[in-house]
Amino acid sequence: MTGFDTRAARAGINRDPAHRAITAPIHLSSAYARETPETVTDFDYARTAHPGRALFEESIAELEGGVGAVATASGMAAIDLLLNDLPHGARIVAPVDAYGGTRRLLDARAAGGRFEVIYARSWETGAIEAALAKGAALLILETPSNPLLRITDIAAAARLGKAAGALVAVDNTLLSPALQRPIELGADCVIHSATKLINGHSDMVGGVLVETDPKRLDRHRWWANAAGTGLAGFDAFLALRGIRTLPVRARTQSAAALDIAQWLASRPDVAAVHYPGLAGHPGHELAARQQSGFGVVLSLELAPDLDPRIFAKRLALFTLAQSLGGVESLVSLPASMTHASMTEAARAEAGISDGLVRLSVGLEDSADLVADLEAALTAAATT
Ligand SMILES: *Cc1c(COP(=O)(O)O)cnc(C)c1O
Repeated sequence: MTGFDTRAARAGINRDPAHRAITAPIHLSSAYARETPETVTDFDYARTAHPGRALFEESIAELEGGVGAVATASGMAAIDLLLNDLPHGARIVAPVDAYGGTRRLLDARAAGGRFEVIYARSWETGAIEAALAKGAALLILETPSNPLLRITDIAAAARLGKAAGALVAVDNTLLSPALQRPIELGADCVIHSATKLINGHSDMVGGVLVETDPKRLDRHRWWANAAGTGLAGFDAFLALRGIRTLPVRARTQSAAALDIAQWLASRPDVAAVHYPGLAGHPGHELAARQQSGFGVVLSLELAPDLDPRIFAKRLALFTLAQSLGGVESLVSLPASMTHASMTEAARAEAGISDGLVRLSVGLEDSADLVADLEAALTAAATT
């Protein structure tokens, strides 16, 4: 097989049988003509499938090492596909510091009696083992976690999950297959918010569920069609376009994030920096082993006399917005933004303090980003 960068750069290239266009065209048609009432060719109705979605699914499945994928209207819709496939009353083990939207969905469904959820400190292998003690149908992992960048040992957790009879799913949104491939480490499936690093340009919302089992893949596809949660044509085109530059963006933005994390760690006005690329991070060695880059997201806590709201507002090259993985740098205050849907107690349990600041590092010059952070730190201290 060709190298990862080659496969990414050529995602959906030379795949237009009609006109031999280099870049696959955008198909917006909702319906496809039939030869006879009974014969359906590759495409029939766009809720079920369309050429652009199929190319994106094929490309991302190949990069993650799965047998296929289902592309959805959002990352949450991809997670919901996994939940649809569980029997009533099933037990799910999920990280205590999972993405806020994931917790909201799990909690709401669990409260309705659909299933039982056990939250575990998934970065401690012993805690996963304890949570799986009564067996489980699904183990969801998210590593690095968001926003504290805790690292879970995917291979160890996958072994425990399988021994307990659980399907092992990894939310790989924070790294993308360019920096981490969970299926190679033993995961059964991978979930993405394609909105983030995969698309990389902050101009669409989408998700994908990559599978290693053809039967489960068929069931997920059936649900995506039945519930109408598949990815739309224009968004599939943008996600596929993002894949072609994914390895370069992921590497460059990761390198800048490391520079910034090291600079922040040297500052007396920064109380803590959470980034697995730092030698002092508790998951550093594990991350160095199971990832091929430390990622584009980091978080920090300012010294107690600095106001995180003033800091975030004063930043000029980091826009206050709740997303990550785009070419533009963003800043967010997780307790008031991405993780606001969690209860205060759940945030405390997950270790998300009100003063925590999350940065997503883009493609700007890292020297400019550091200068911007320095100016904002000064402003936060003197106002
Ligand atoms: C954003 C995100 C999601 C949800 O994806 P959407 O595309 O916003 O629905 C899920 N998991 C993680 C880790 C995320 O960052």
